[in-house]
Amino acid sequence: MTFRLPRPSTRWARGLTLAGFVGVFLADMVTPLGFAHGMLYMPWVAVAGLSRNSWWVVGATVAGVGLTAVGFFVSPSNLTGAALAYAIANRLVAALATATTGGLTLAILQYVHRVKETQRLLSEAYDTLRSQQTLLQIASEIGHLGGWLVRLDTHVAVWSEEVCRIHEVEPGFAPTVAQGIEFYAPEYRDRITAVFAACVKTGLPFDEELQIITARQRRLWVRSIGQPVRNEQGAIVAVQGAFQDITSQKLAEVSLERSEQRFRQLADAMPLIVWTADPNGTVDYASHALRVYTGIYDPDTPPSQIWMTLLHPDDVDLCLTVWTAAVQSASPYRVELRTRRYDGDYRWHLVQAVPIRDEAEQIVKWYGTAIEIHDQKQLEQEARQIADRLNTTLESITDCFFTLDRQWNFTFINRQAEQLLQRERVDLLGKYAWDEFPEASGSVFQQQYEKAVNEGQSVEFREFYAPLNVWLDVRAYPSHEGLAVYFQDVTDRIALEERLHQSQRLESIGQLTGGIAHDFNNLLTVILGNAELLGEMLEADPHLHPLAQMIGSAAQRGAELTQRLLSFARRQALDPKPVDVNQLMTATDGLLRRTLGEHIDINIVAEANLWPALVDPAQLENALLNLCLNARDAMVRGGQLTLETANTYLSQDYASQHVEVVSGHYVMVSVSDTGVGIDPKHLERVFEPFFTTKEQGKGTGLGLSMVYGFIKQSGGHIKIYSELGHGTTIRMYLPRFWGDVQPSLPAPEGVVAAHSELILLVEDNELVRRYAHDQLVDLGYRVLVATSGPAALAMLYQQDNIDLLFTDVVMPGGMSGRELADLAQQIRPGLRVLYTSGYSENAIVHQGRLDEGIQLLSKPYGRTELSRKIREALTAPCH
Ligand code: ADP
Ligand code: MG
Repeated sequence: MTFRLPRPSTRWARGLTLAGFVGVFLADMVTPLGFAHGMLYMPWVAVAGLSRNSWWVVGATVAGVGLTAVGFFVSPSNLTGAALAYAIANRLVAALATATTGGLTLAILQYVHRVKETQRLLSEAYDTLRSQQTLLQIASEIGHLGGWLVRLDTHVAVWSEEVCRIHEVEPGFAPTVAQGIEFYAPEYRDRITAVFAACVKTGLPFDEELQIITARQRRLWVRSIGQPVRNEQGAIVAVQGAFQDITSQKLAEVSLERSEQRFRQLADAMPLIVWTADPNGTVDYASHALRVYTGIYDPDTPPSQIWMTLLHPDDVDLCLTVWTAAVQSASPYRVELRTRRYDGDYRWHLVQAVPIRDEAEQIVKWYGTAIEIHDQKQLEQEARQIADRLNTTLESITDCFFTLDRQWNFTFINRQAEQLLQRERVDLLGKYAWDEFPEASGSVFQQQYEKAVNEGQSVEFREFYAPLNVWLDVRAYPSHEGLAVYFQDVTDRIALEERLHQSQRLESIGQLTGGIAHDFNNLLTVILGNAELLGEMLEADPHLHPLAQMIGSAAQRGAELTQRLLSFARRQALDPKPVDVNQLMTATDGLLRRTLGEHIDINIVAEANLWPALVDPAQLENALLNLCLNARDAMVRGGQLTLETANTYLSQDYASQHVEVVSGHYVMVSVSDTGVGIDPKHLERVFEPFFTTKEQGKGTGLGLSMVYGFIKQSGGHIKIYSELGHGTTIRMYLPRFWGDVQPSLPAPEGVVAAHSELILLVEDNELVRRYAHDQLVDLGYRVLVATSGPAALAMLYQQDNIDLLFTDVVMPGGMSGRELADLAQQIRPGLRVLYTSGYSENAIVHQGRLDEGIQLLSKPYGRTELSRKIREALTAPCH
């Protein structure tokens, strides 16, 4: 409501004022003095007030006073005396009245102005009040908040509209206190009665959360606040307060509580420790599992304390640092720690937590778990140990090993593989195999690996890998992870196999040769012996004697050839003795110089303290001679021949790379020449009998084969080094003799005569038997003849004066010469025995040498050898 004063136009007021002044002044001029014109300005000063401008009022007042004065002089006048005085007084009073009017008008103007100002302020205050009231009402409706007052004299309550609405009664409802209490749910009535009474009596304010039942029988949660109202004397005259419907908050609280409860039930049911912490990182809850794990059930011990005291001392720092960092950076927390279990065991836990934020992105809570990972951790550790062990195993195996994944990238390489492939594993791991080994790409290697992977079956193959110049034996095993490849460098093994193959070939040729030579020797014995005999008988005949001699020498050459064959076949009966090889070399020096000729320089390099060798000296001489002859043939235009001796040790390593070589001490004898050398393609065949590059008639191809057989049979080793166009070195390794060398007795020369001793000759070959018989008789012996072992035994029983058993070794009829001799010596202890044989037999020869005390006459033999051997056997000490 506004109050408005009538508002005349100010312009109109000003115009009227001016017109009034002009009118009065004109009237003053035309009327004679004495007339009270000055008074007439007064209304116009008041009219000027209507302009509501103070300056206009002041101006009008000044003008009124001024014009009153001016009018005195301009009015036509003839007054004098009392009349003039009257006129002046009249003018003065008029001026005074005009000024007073002006002052009054000003005062009124100011008053009106103040009234208007007050009115404006009032109106503003009213508006504010209105809007505040509206807001209050809105707040009260939204907040379900009302006010009430109970006057203690009447015990009647005044309820605000909102309080009525909460109770679901009509506005203006004013119950008595008893009626008001009736609205509370029965279980709360005592309580509200008590607090209200206390407030009335002692002035104790109350603030309760209770339930009411509304007029429409709805149960609501309310908050009832009350406080006393006192009069000036301080007596309590009323109780007033607020009343609020808090049902929805209450429900929210309850549901929050329920959800909290459900969370805890769930957390407690979980097999892991669940915990929460406030935004500052203080742990405020941990599930039941913590207590089960630690055995601490005391509810007064807070979970954070349980956790910290049971942490492994080594893990405390880690736990705190990581947790502090997580809380400060508000980022998830994760750490592995050991915590003590109820039985004292420390077990590993994985502890994690995440921050939960509100709408404003502020952390409201941390939710965390602690899961026992001890067993996993241990499994992990075991797995790692197994992997380590596997690694060590793969590193320690002699095979090279690598693995590829399904994309052909390297995933593992052991040290052996690194070495053989000449690549560092750091350079290969994770790399594509066919990029790293482009030469293997598209080769048998790739084909085989792909086959293995595609067919899911392991492959094995041997292949030459050209970039490394090696033969590899490869085994590849596919798996779902890729391919595991084992491989070995078998280059040396292949070479060794080839050597073995070579030596086996030589061995079988030897067996064949040995068999032929045996029969051959029987024939040669007869031819040679008879040629000798014939030669003696035909000495006087100039025609026939040379023929007999020719037969003899031809047979002799045949015998030599057979000897060489036997030698190659390792079937000659060697008679190894301790030999000083230097001495033997010096002894043959003269013969060599004569044989080799002037154009060849002979150079002897003899080791000073050479060990004695255990070898058949005659055969060694023969071998040396053969090697020198080969050297001579290789140096047609002359050159240098070097004979060298040395003490040598053949290592285990060397032995394992060669066939039939035992590591140990050897006496090395080498023959080197500066000749044409041997073509590599011939090198592996030169030991074969009958292999020769020399023209027909010049070479027999039996020289080296004889040397080879002899050395092998002696338990030695032979090796050729040759370079085409430069020369050849052949080294013979003779077994060392551990002892001193006895100087050997020179053999007697010529035919040794008999002293008519009785000899039992046992020989199955008729021709040989006849020849031997005749020779022995001719030499002056008495001879008994048997064709087999059993026949000879029969004779031994009959005759007790037999001096010597002269027997062939190999005989049909189930009894060898050796067996015969053994039985004979049982019948006749001390009986002397001489064996004869076409080649050495196992019966009397072991490990390439004659058994101890055995006397042997090798076939073919001539009269001279026969006579000497028979005598030796007759005079040899008995066994
Ligand atoms: P032969 O001497 O009768 O040919 P060997 O068995 O003694 O038979 O030798 C076989 C072959 O080995 C010879 O034909 C020759 O080609 C080769 N040979 C042996 N020794 C030498 C050497 N010192 N220099 C060059 N070639 C050799
Ligand atoms: Mg030769």
